[in-house]
Amino acid sequence: MTTIDPSSRIAIVGAGISALTCAQILRSAGFSPTLFEKSAGYGGRVSTRHLEDGIAFDHGAQYVTAKTCGFKTYLSEAEQRGCAGMWSPRVSKGSREQDWFVGRPAMRDLVNPLISNLDIKYHAYVSRIYRYRRGWCLELEDGGVPLYFDNVIVSAPAPQTLVLIGRDTEISVRISEVEMSPCWALIAAFDRRFKTDLDVITDENSDLTWLVRNNSKLDRSQHIESWVAHVSPQWSLNNIERDRDSVLPELLNMLERKLGRRLPAPTFARAHLWRYALTSVPLGELFLSTSDHTLTAIGDWCLGSRVECAYQSGIAAGKYLVGAFAT
Ligand SMILES: Cc1cc2nc3c(=O)[nH]c(=O)nc-3n(C[C@H](O)[C@H](O)[C@H](O)COP(=O)(O)OP(=O)(O)OC[C@H]3O[C@@H](n4cnc5c(N)ncnc54)[C@H](O)[C@@H]3O)c2cc1C
Repeated sequence: MTTIDPSSRIAIVGAGISALTCAQILRSAGFSPTLFEKSAGYGGRVSTRHLEDGIAFDHGAQYVTAKTCGFKTYLSEAEQRGCAGMWSPRVSKGSREQDWFVGRPAMRDLVNPLISNLDIKYHAYVSRIYRYRRGWCLELEDGGVPLYFDNVIVSAPAPQTLVLIGRDTEISVRISEVEMSPCWALIAAFDRRFKTDLDVITDENSDLTWLVRNNSKLDRSQHIESWVAHVSPQWSLNNIERDRDSVLPELLNMLERKLGRRLPAPTFARAHLWRYALTSVPLGELFLSTSDHTLTAIGDWCLGSRVECAYQSGIAAGKYLVGAFAT
């Protein structure tokens, strides 16, 4: 049985919502994990693109819903802190079975309650994780010396986790069963407001599956018209190798067709590829951990495709590891 004290070196790869929740559980039990995040900020796919003039686009997760008590409590605390609020857009079809919440003033702010007191290294791209003695070594892309940790938790999307840890660890086969699909996203801003009857248009049978007037969300800048569109997994997969400049005119055409009107030239438009956006085949368990608890994989892909799934995975793995470390 492994015995680990709070001075154990614990690394978490990523700073999305699953990593942050797991880190906070570990911290509240007295551990001090170090998070390695390849990008410049936290939040992962709960992401906001900020332009220079104060305009922001939520180009990843659009809104969240809560089915579990734990996530309901999280959202209500985030709401009290001013980081989240209920959003009631005019939608094209169907009724909303649950309340929709968004981050305030931008989607990424939804995770602000999770970042306090964490040691997060940004621009820290982990390129390989391999066994070393009773723990694991992390190699960073910057070429520095490998870093040794007693325990490593990886929160990258499943296919990227597999590349990092290799195919011959105890948990690799299970991770390889998970499938994730890509999503091309469009963000576009116009200096003229449009008249529309809808803030959200969804259509699972078309190439453009989700279209939202970003400025219909709470606290978003109102002096500009801003739209975000998401393209279907199939179209995204068929066009996955294209560069964003070549895809952009087609995405703008899709936007125009879906809105049924000629659009003025956008003041800003950008296409973004989420290579591992949504889970098509989930794991069906909250997380995976090796029998000695030294390597753990977490993320939304364990349960599904939603922010709440990532939250549940991070919480469950954190609690499990605290219990395992105490034995
Ligand atoms: C286009 C799109 C729309 C979505 N819409 C919704 C929605 O409306 N509602 C909803 O609930 N969910 C939605 N989702 C899903 C939601 O965003 C995810 O379920 C959730 O954010 C996943 O969190 P996570 O912590 O598991 O992973 P992530 O947020 O992906 O976090 C993983 C982190 O690991 C980092 N990382 C990866 N590899 C490395 C490495 N080698 N080294 C260092 N760091 C690394 C990444 O940069 C990232 O920050 C959407 C996702 C996308 C892409």
